[in-house]
Amino acid sequence: MKCPICGNEHTGKLSKSRYFCSICFIEIFLSRKEELQIYKILEDGTTCPIAATN
Ligand SMILES: [Zn+2]
Repeated sequence: MKCPICGNEHTGKLSKSRYFCSICFIEIFLSRKEELQIYKILEDGTTCPIAATN
């Protein structure tokens, strides 16, 4: 999975459909329909949705 924001190709894989970019500090969720959902990881460890693409 390539980070859709910064283009980093070395994203970490958290699970089948969850990836992590250590440059942007975001989690990328890939839905069954291959829709990307991007969540910013906040300082307290919670996530906040920042974008969704079709
Ligand atoms: Zn990134």
